[in-house]
Amino acid sequence: MDVRTFFTVFLSLDSHAAFVMLLWGNASLSTLVFSYLITSRDVENRSTILNFTLARVIQALGWGFLILYELGTERLSLLLGLGICSMGLFWESQTLLSLAKLSVRRMRHARYSSLALYLFSFLVFLWSSSGPSVLAPGPVQPWAIFGCLGSCVGGPAALARPGTTKIRKFVGICALAMFIALSGWLYQGLTDSSGLFHFYWEDAFRIVAVILALTGGSGMLILAKEESDLRIADMAVRDHLTGLFNRRHFLDNGLMLYADCVRKGEPVAVLFLDLDQFKAVNDRYGHLFGDAVLRDFATILRLSLRPLDLSCRYGGEEFVVLLPRTDASGALSAAERLLEAVRNSKFPERIEFGYTVSAGIAWQIPASGREEDFMALLSDADGALYRAKSSGRDKVVTA
Ligand code: GH3
Ligand code: MG
Ligand code: MG
Repeated sequence: MDVRTFFTVFLSLDSHAAFVMLLWGNASLSTLVFSYLITSRDVENRSTILNFTLARVIQALGWGFLILYELGTERLSLLLGLGICSMGLFWESQTLLSLAKLSVRRMRHARYSSLALYLFSFLVFLWSSSGPSVLAPGPVQPWAIFGCLGSCVGGPAALARPGTTKIRKFVGICALAMFIALSGWLYQGLTDSSGLFHFYWEDAFRIVAVILALTGGSGMLILAKEESDLRIADMAVRDHLTGLFNRRHFLDNGLMLYADCVRKGEPVAVLFLDLDQFKAVNDRYGHLFGDAVLRDFATILRLSLRPLDLSCRYGGEEFVVLLPRTDASGALSAAERLLEAVRNSKFPERIEFGYTVSAGIAWQIPASGREEDFMALLSDADGALYRAKSSGRDKVVTA
């Protein structure tokens, strides 16, 4: 088989077939994503994924009108087809943009500039299509369509940038490449070239556009699934009330941080914290207020620690913090800072209320990363906490 035959047999796809594939491919993908959305209860970004589905339905409609046009019906079909497709693609790009986790300012900037480019190009498209030029494209109309496509590039580009998750990047890159392939297809279709590879190029762009449209759409389904998996995985390691890590996560990851300090020969400290007379708080103000106090303490903990510190709600009103690269004086000042912040904490609904916390500290330059040694360090901090309690509370004791 020579190259020409190979191309003709395996890599040729005329416009009509491409439109049909895009129509039914998008229709079936939208159905699949929509069924997933309505059958699974735990989906993050539900409205974004719903918008993506809607964008694909709009695109399917647009490709449908282009099929009608290919079949020789009125030029209105072409106008509607191109117009609706570009709207669907723009909608999809805006949906992807909202997944990109940009700062509010950059998001606003991206939205407004793409919307301005899209509206401008779309109006030029309508204007340039008002004469007989739809059937015989003049010099302006193709540029207007390119403008519409160009305004769609921002969303996928923002999603594909470094720093997003792998699957988000995948969806972004697919969409970006799809817009480029669509532009290539359009360009090849509009330029009057009789070069040997002209039609191969046009076919190649069509094939790539169809493949990417369908792959990117499936990627969206995986993305929806992955985000809900991540959320469930996160729920498994966090305490529901305070949002802090739970004891299991602390013990697993604390041991790793501990072993890391062994390798680097760095000191490591542990803080054991327990809210003072907390039973009395519950008895006097009720358990719901007690919960609010626990959340308040968790917030103080989060705000006053370094990113490399690992904290958790160990149980009830007990909290533990692992401070890597920290010796006795570092741990002591961290604990004093924490106790001071707790003393100064105020509750608008109970202005008279104040609470305190006691802390026990243990530290060492660990010699081995064994679990027993790590547990012994925790136990030492717990013993110090016990002494802080028995010597009057609201204080820090070092083991
Ligand atoms: P001490 O100063 O000796 O630590 O006294 P304490 O009252 O804080 O200690 P105790 O162990 O007697 O009481 C702990 C209380 O914490 C009892 C329990 O009802 C309360 N508690 C544990 N978990 C929660 C929770 O999730 N919410 C609320 N509101 N209270 C909780
Ligand atoms: Mg207590
Ligand atoms: Mg306790």
